Amino acid sequence: MVIFLVIPWFIGMIIEKYQAKSLIRTSKRSPHHIHLNIYQGCFHNCCYCDGKSDEYFMHDDYSNKIRAKINAPELLEEYLINKGFLPINREKTNTLLDFVPQSKRKKMASDNPRFIINIFGNICDVYQPAEAELEITRDVLQVAYDYGFPVRILTKNTLVLRDIDLIKKINQDTFARVAFTVTLSNPQDQLIFEPNASSTSERLLALKKFREEGISAGGYITPVIPWIGDTETNLVELFQQLKDAKAEFVITGGLTLKPGRNKEDFLKIIDEHYPDLLVLYNELYRNNSIYGQPDMEIWDKYKLQNPIKLGYQMSKEYGLNFFEPRYIPEGTLRTNLEMATILSRIAFLMGEIYEESWQKAYEIREAAIELENNPSDISLKKFEEILTLPYEKHVFRHIIEMLQTGKSSYLRKKEDNSQLFLKKDDFFSKNSSTLR
Ligand code: SF4
Repeated sequence: MVIFLVIPWFIGMIIEKYQAKSLIRTSKRSPHHIHLNIYQGCFHNCCYCDGKSDEYFMHDDYSNKIRAKINAPELLEEYLINKGFLPINREKTNTLLDFVPQSKRKKMASDNPRFIINIFGNICDVYQPAEAELEITRDVLQVAYDYGFPVRILTKNTLVLRDIDLIKKINQDTFARVAFTVTLSNPQDQLIFEPNASSTSERLLALKKFREEGISAGGYITPVIPWIGDTETNLVELFQQLKDAKAEFVITGGLTLKPGRNKEDFLKIIDEHYPDLLVLYNELYRNNSIYGQPDMEIWDKYKLQNPIKLGYQMSKEYGLNFFEPRYIPEGTLRTNLEMATILSRIAFLMGEIYEESWQKAYEIREAAIELENNPSDISLKKFEEILTLPYEKHVFRHIIEMLQTGKSSYLRKKEDNSQLFLKKDDFFSKNSSTLR
């Protein structure tokens, strides 16, 4: 049965509660993670939101009608039970588990490797205003804690602070990470692009609070909006503020505008608030790429910087980690996962940053995925056995070196490379100051 409920203090928001059939998304590319989609629609209403694009089949009124999976905690629990896990941290279960001392419960857990529960589905914020009333995300966190699972959270709303008690408990038991997306430091710009999210300064304060509580937390500067978010003022301020908040990492990404609602909503806001830029965005995204990518010919014409490369270089300058440090869940093959992580970083540097070889970077990334999924411990394999793994020749060089030394000289050399930096004058968008 569907129940409609209007919450008066968020004018225009309509909540539709429903019993969902599915909640969990898994991927072979990251087998030690699951993602949850608790809500459909997002009241934060960021005008660049990718969730509005047609590929996600969201309902028409994405920004006002919030469809809430009220049975999300039960669906997660069912999923964990089906995988053989027990509520080892739950005080009362009314089962024989209640007679097992806490210290012995962990041993009773399934032999299946654990995974990280990502309390976000990437396209609808789990701490958007509806959550204040519904507390579904909180109940989902409780299930994660009860079953002894690590979590990752990504949000633009400081409502996440409400659950800091539970997040701390999860962190003490296994691991918790809270990441905040921040895109614009100027409050007026931020309000235009993300009208119903917490302000950037509030998010940064919340990030700081999590760090002070000993919880892993970092920032995603995504998207870096051309001509508005890629300016020196904006990026320097965000990097500095993230550093001040003791962010553990910062990651940047570009703006994609997929044909349809995603692109239309963005251009409407540009037309309304930055009319001089409209012609530029129309030109930059004229190709209508199904992935929302800009036209690179126009990108080069305006000398725009690659936001990932730019972010990587700035992260070096600010002494911030560009990679999320990896948490390896209990029961997984540690060596395989550590080596897969290093391979992914090598692929990232080789492909995205140094642009040495896209093909080799792709092959290294594929090897990393294979290693993540490989059920046998690579550190126990004989040399001849390792050579039968389905990797390209050049990948073995990295694997053998890591097995022999525990390190990658390629990674060390590239990470230390001070020659990488572009001249500071080339860093930032030049057009914004003259156009706005
Ligand atoms: S917070 Fe995220 S999901 Fe929500 S509208 Fe903004 S970009 Fe979309």
